Amino acid sequence: MNYLPSTVRYQDMQYRRCGHSGIKLPALSLGLWHNFGGVDTEENFRSILRLAFDSGITHFDLANNYGPPAGSAETNFGKILQEDLRSYRDELIISSKAGYTMWGGPYGDWGSRKYLISSLDQSLKRMRLDYVDIFYHHRPDPETPLEESMAALDHLVRQGKALYAGISNYPADQAAKAIEILKFLGTPCLIHQPKYSMFERWVEQNLLDVLETSGVGCIPFSPLAQGLLTNKYLKGIPADSRAAKPSGFLQQDQVTEERLKQIKKLNDLAEYRGQTLAQMALVWLLKDRRVTSVLIGASRPDQLQDSLRCLRNLQFSSEELLTIEMILS
Ligand code: NDP
Repeated sequence: MNYLPSTVRYQDMQYRRCGHSGIKLPALSLGLWHNFGGVDTEENFRSILRLAFDSGITHFDLANNYGPPAGSAETNFGKILQEDLRSYRDELIISSKAGYTMWGGPYGDWGSRKYLISSLDQSLKRMRLDYVDIFYHHRPDPETPLEESMAALDHLVRQGKALYAGISNYPADQAAKAIEILKFLGTPCLIHQPKYSMFERWVEQNLLDVLETSGVGCIPFSPLAQGLLTNKYLKGIPADSRAAKPSGFLQQDQVTEERLKQIKKLNDLAEYRGQTLAQMALVWLLKDRRVTSVLIGASRPDQLQDSLRCLRNLQFSSEELLTIEMILS
């Protein structure tokens, strides 16, 4: 079935500059960590990807190990790119990463030059691409010199296999060092990808300031706390939810009574604002201009549709912000 993207796809999306770079990213980017692997249904993830592109989402985030099995999300994405989006490569920002365990032996994990370079070569093959737009070091490596990991990113950019370099899960002090090394090498760090949501706020301590000062963008992952910051767990754990799936990273014991009490109160506030809780949780992050884009997941097209509607109301009153702080405290 031939796919023709919507001709008005850029109409409703907002694009925000990534740090001090030339690149703008959509306010919402789509991640393929869950729901796009070998265990998932092609018809469903194809519909999600088409809806995303039709809605102005230009940025798709992957990593070597996304699946399960590891690598299958990149393979599936490559197939859909080939079949549906081949003519639109220049309208897409495609990211991949390496840093977690990908293959056995000493060279398939962490941050050596050997691992990062071989892994991107594998990712490009799986996605049937000549280059990715952003290549990230996925997590800091306590043993490999930071200079080696950053030089590997610089090398891949110079080779043209990645257009930009990024880092993920780096605490503020290590991020500052990595940014400095990349600047020295002549490949500025484009973006940092940290975990950040109403339930996970470590980035507010120092990291956001470091990124702002250095002109580096920020793309929070798991902005809905893997689905907790929605109304889906209010009446128990649905059978098709991430917490119920054997391949899901959200554990049932993370759905605690205390969390549910907070979620209920946040959900009431979202309803008062005329939003779903998912929408409110996303715009709560986007209210900070240091946040370039929020990196969402979706297991069905209607979830993505719901999340996209968050852009209709980006304003918070000071009373609403205070109420949120009181609920979270
Ligand atoms: P989210 O916090 O957005 O969680 C997504 C999940 O929330 C969906 O699978 C779905 O859960 C539920 N959901 C989404 N939208 C709605 C909605 N509108 N209403 C109700 N439920 C909804 O993000 P993820 O945890 O999926 O992470 C997003 C991306 O971030 C990843 O795909 C990946 O690209 C990146 N990431 C990066 C990491 C890193 O180390 N750099 C680590 C983790 C993620 P359900 O499946 O239950 O329906």
